[in-house]
Amino acid sequence: MKENLKTIVFKVDPENPEEEKISVAAEAIRRGGIVAFPTETVYGLGVDALNQEAVKRMYEVKGRPPDNPTIVHIAEFNDVYKLAVDVPEVAEELMRRFWPGPLTIVLKASKIVPRVTTGGLETVGIRMPKHKVALALIRASKTPIAAPSANIAGKPSPTTAQHVIQDFYGSIDVILDAGPTKIGVESTVLDLTTKPPQILRPGGVTYEELKEVLGEVIVHEAAKARESVQLIEARSPGMKYRHYAPKAELIVVEGETNRIVEEIKKLIDEYSKMGKKVGVMATDETIENYKTGIVKSVGSRLDLSTIARNLFRILREFDDEGVEVILAEGVPEEGLGLAIMNRLRKASGYKIIHAN
Ligand code: AMP
Ligand code: MG
Repeated sequence: MKENLKTIVFKVDPENPEEEKISVAAEAIRRGGIVAFPTETVYGLGVDALNQEAVKRMYEVKGRPPDNPTIVHIAEFNDVYKLAVDVPEVAEELMRRFWPGPLTIVLKASKIVPRVTTGGLETVGIRMPKHKVALALIRASKTPIAAPSANIAGKPSPTTAQHVIQDFYGSIDVILDAGPTKIGVESTVLDLTTKPPQILRPGGVTYEELKEVLGEVIVHEAAKARESVQLIEARSPGMKYRHYAPKAELIVVEGETNRIVEEIKKLIDEYSKMGKKVGVMATDETIENYKTGIVKSVGSRLDLSTIARNLFRILREFDDEGVEVILAEGVPEEGLGLAIMNRLRKASGYKIIHAN
């Protein structure tokens, strides 16, 4: 692993990225270096997607298993046809409707994509991020950028540059800090090589939105994350590995809101008696109910985008405060709720309680 690198951290204007800073970062990408950059979803750990050595080094630094593919980020629609072959018409419709934006489409990979980038698969996941800094970096680098989330494998994804600094200061070349990310959960991964198309990972573009365009779309069983699903082949390896996990034990309580609150109150008592430091991930509507423990609201049940935005930051905060057990409220699986519950259940290692 590359260590004790002199990491350059630049504050960048999210609306008008400074050219000099972007060009230093792009130069690092062109030399095969690693640059962390903001997108509208989470921060990414970027390298030249076509440079095998750079991709390998990024996997090492992140501690990512080599069979977990990385999304390739582009800034021009036409780059799709360089990276993929047999692009179906429906892909173009989706690109027009959702790009730039939090939708990754999985297509048959062309020859120029190194198989280290695709985790050995014959398919490639591609997206165009909706963030001026990301787009400026890709354009200046003059190459597609392969980027997983900029966290050490297994940890909660980074939604601020501080999270990236915690994990990678001294082991990557440049960190572009443009403040907190807007969406807070990763892109939706949609496989277009199957009929009907399948959501392999729920994310920033919702099932409902995709259904409107596609008519028929399936949510892969593992993407629902109801429980761990045995996968013979990792179609989308986010499915296979423990993910997003804080150091603390995390328990998700699901069901009707009032029942969730009652169950969590009981659990707070039980864990406190055991001498555990307990954290509660509540919502604006329920927070008043909890009188003991470290209680934080993750956002409002009336606007799930607020919960998506804060989710990973709150998990990291509980860790920073030495919480040993986090009790998290579930939300309905509608709209962004599907992505939120996918992240929470995986982060919990499927420690799920149904409060009924
Ligand atoms: P991360 O890079 O941490 O946001 O995770 C990227 C996710 O995108 C992986 O977990 C995969 O599930 C998914 N992905 C990327 N490329 C492909 C692909 N070719 N086929 C299936 N899933 C993919
Ligand atoms: Mg990730």
